[in-house]
Amino acid sequence: MLVLVINCGSSSVKYDLINTEDQTGLCRGLVERIGAVTAIVKHEPTGQKKVKETKTIQNHTEALKEILGFLLSPDSQIVKSASDIKAVGHRVVHGSDMFKDSVLIDDDVKEAIEQAIDLAPLHNPPNLKGIEAAMEALPDVPHVAVFDTAFHHSLPAKAYLYGIPNRLYRRYKIRKYGFHGTSHYYVSRQYYKLILKDSKDTKVISCHLGNGASIAAIEGGQSVDTTMGFTPLSGLVMGTRSGDLDPSILFYLVEKEELPLSDLHALLNRHSGLIGLSGYAADMRDLIAEAEKGDRRCQQAIDVFTYKIKQYIGSYMATMNGCDAILFTAGIGENSALIRKKAVENMEYLGIKLDDDRNNDVQPGEMTRISADDSKVDVYVVPTNEELVIAIDAAKIAQASAQSPWI
Ligand code: ADP
Repeated sequence: MLVLVINCGSSSVKYDLINTEDQTGLCRGLVERIGAVTAIVKHEPTGQKKVKETKTIQNHTEALKEILGFLLSPDSQIVKSASDIKAVGHRVVHGSDMFKDSVLIDDDVKEAIEQAIDLAPLHNPPNLKGIEAAMEALPDVPHVAVFDTAFHHSLPAKAYLYGIPNRLYRRYKIRKYGFHGTSHYYVSRQYYKLILKDSKDTKVISCHLGNGASIAAIEGGQSVDTTMGFTPLSGLVMGTRSGDLDPSILFYLVEKEELPLSDLHALLNRHSGLIGLSGYAADMRDLIAEAEKGDRRCQQAIDVFTYKIKQYIGSYMATMNGCDAILFTAGIGENSALIRKKAVENMEYLGIKLDDDRNNDVQPGEMTRISADDSKVDVYVVPTNEELVIAIDAAKIAQASAQSPWI
């Protein structure tokens, strides 16, 4: 089945056209700087020349028109008719505690996503805009929402409750939700497939290390804890986000610098993490290059980043009473041998030992074991594919809805 996967940010639309039967991508692309004087449009059809243009694109509806125009154009020959696209899968960041699975979008679902805006003010509004725009552009196909939070629905109360008055949980749903669920789900399933073992007998720690970064503890195939929390700000140090912090720092800063709340928000979300620590860059490649030249603050940023990862791996090994495998994924996890090494070095006591040659020889896009043969815990690099998870879920739900008048 041909599925269009859509991931909307406030000024961008990312898309992937995927054939779920053979799990191949036909075309992917990005419209960014929507609403600016000139937007940047990129299309990457598989096996054909990439296209990059600048255009005026006022809103998400125009961006969707641009994307469909390219896919359907006689020049690109990617799809003959819009009716060949049988479903649209939408990445939705926050499903609150309402959605534990992907769901066919109707008015009630749209309203529920809207209700969760309070919990994800940066993410859910553009996700909704994308849904509206795509439903307008492709009104006759099923649209399916796939939530970043859904995989973590299995967290037990002891992991998702914060140590604050319980009425705040009951009244405002303040709890840990966790994110990157589709990625943690995908890489753990790739691992089960490879080892040919039933997921119920396994304990896995999945490390998604990209611009945003999180770790999930996965026991018996289910997420039992994760580092992101009420919002994607907590847990690991990230490109521009602080990760865990003593909440008293906020009161202290308000007093010392008289910062308004909006500035505090920007400070922790956009000016902290790797860029804040290094004063130089959020991009790990730039930090590694500068640290190699002797820049102390870039080195410190790398040290703090990897120390946090190590702490959480140790913590989840404690809470799960061991672990069979640690999985590294996303931009940094898949591409940086140095970060992987620093994240798990000196952990022989816990049964983790890397093989340096294997770690240094990982080929892009390939699932690779990088632990030593005598390591008690296996360590793998597993390329993630969140778009494929979204496409497969959308295809399943679209098929079921075609067969049943009740879905
Ligand atoms: P996003 O969260 O935006 O999807 P990605 O998963 O694409 O992020 O990861 C982006 C991060 O991956 C950046 O910090 C980038 O520097 C890092 N990265 C990509 N390739 C490498 C590499 N070869 N070595 C170190 N870091 C890398």
